[in-house]
Amino acid sequence: QDTTDMSSLAMEKQHAVFIPYPAQGHISPMLKLAKLLHTKGFHITFILTEFNHRRFVQAHASKGVTKIADFRFETIPDGLPPSEDDATQDIVALCESIMTKNYCLDPFRRLLAKLNCEAAASAVSPPVSCIVSDGIMTFTLDVAHELSIPEILVWTASATGYLAYHHYRHLIERGIIPLKDMADVNNGYLDIEVDWIPGIMKGFRLKDFPSFIRTVNADDILLNFQLHEIARASMASAIVFNTFDELELPALQSLQKILPPIYTIGSISLLSRCTIPVDNHLTAISTSLWKEETSCLRWLEGRSANSVVYVSFGSITVMSEENLVEFAWGLADSGYDFLWMIRPDLMKGESTILPSEFLKETKDRGKIASWCPQEEVLMHPAVGVFLTHCGWNSTLESLCGGVPMICWPFFAEQQTNCRYACTEWGVGMEINNNVKREDVKGLIKEMMGGEKGKEMIQKAKKWKERVVNACGPDGISTVNLEKVIKDVLFRK
Ligand code: UDP
Repeated sequence: QDTTDMSSLAMEKQHAVFIPYPAQGHISPMLKLAKLLHTKGFHITFILTEFNHRRFVQAHASKGVTKIADFRFETIPDGLPPSEDDATQDIVALCESIMTKNYCLDPFRRLLAKLNCEAAASAVSPPVSCIVSDGIMTFTLDVAHELSIPEILVWTASATGYLAYHHYRHLIERGIIPLKDMADVNNGYLDIEVDWIPGIMKGFRLKDFPSFIRTVNADDILLNFQLHEIARASMASAIVFNTFDELELPALQSLQKILPPIYTIGSISLLSRCTIPVDNHLTAISTSLWKEETSCLRWLEGRSANSVVYVSFGSITVMSEENLVEFAWGLADSGYDFLWMIRPDLMKGESTILPSEFLKETKDRGKIASWCPQEEVLMHPAVGVFLTHCGWNSTLESLCGGVPMICWPFFAEQQTNCRYACTEWGVGMEINNNVKREDVKGLIKEMMGGEKGKEMIQKAKKWKERVVNACGPDGISTVNLEKVIKDVLFRK
């Protein structure tokens, strides 16, 4: 083929630029969606911040990041001071940097101009035809408008969480937030029921809203970041939710009335497992920013069904030494086997040290690691319950594995997810924020052997069936993915 032919071929190919918010729980579903689009014939450019790209490369160190045709990684700076540490970045600083236009917008704009220049100069890659951006990276919409290309926003958390954020401004207008005093967090003020939001469950309380309302400061960065991002969503061509219809129908019906076209394609993770064959070279790209300890899977082998408590609080949660010790003794006193992920930066300020007595007592029935292949763990038959912070990915992964949850929400919409898991979906029990070992022990015992626990296991299995159906060949999420590609992303 001569160059003219090659170039016209390249011109026909769609080129999607992906940009997740720079945190693990956002990068994973977006990278999986990027892989899905690659299998549908898209050329992919996946943008990480420089900081996360370095961590990503380190996490792949043993195998190296596989080079895949038409799938490339690019970087932009995040605007934060350089850090050698591989710890999770400060979310407040990141949000401030993203909102401060020039830090991310200008590098993003320049990068897309570079990609389009390269496309014009050679047949190797086609020009950028669409942007697939995180729902909280809406500065990208300016560039989509400048280039007159479609942009979809991917909301990587729950639809109900989105709905609750959407109504933040109404809480402000009604004088409900900001709080008058931080004491309101614990004096019963957050028990006020909010019954005027269509699509939100009955009995939804102020404390079930995403946690950024817990401030006395009208200028609070995280509060204003969410207000800002939600307000700009109407500029998008469409919004994709990592959920499935049965799970959050009332919220989705409500969002349909106030947003650009919405598409549910969750669980993105299960969809990509069901769609991408295991021997496809894309599976070599892991989505973790930490190296996965596969010894966790070996440890689970041979343990009887539903006998292990899996414990992980995701990539951002931090806790005090006191919390850690209470969890440890709760696990020990429950008598059950456990697999516990303790990130090096899980504890506030100091390094994580567990009591030696606890380690001695549980050495034959407890495994502690820093990061595991969580989805595989939750799909392993030995896992009976997940002690979780209710991050949305973890929540979906638990449902995909048919595993009930003990919930200890930390921040953002984890509070909302916890409420839904416990009250609406019937698969969760909540632990008091001020965690005590007796509660941990009691809830584990109830979940693993009690009547309520048996009911929850049955319900969790039902949710597993539903999500598997949604992601199956004719399932609603599979169909919706095809639809969003055809309706929005494909350049006509
Ligand atoms: N995760 C993992 N290994 C671990 C702990 C977590 O792979 O040891 C993954 C987990 O599967 C999930 C993500 O990290 O996909 C965490 O996202 P989530 O939304 O649950 O919480 P966040 O980290 O955003 O608080």
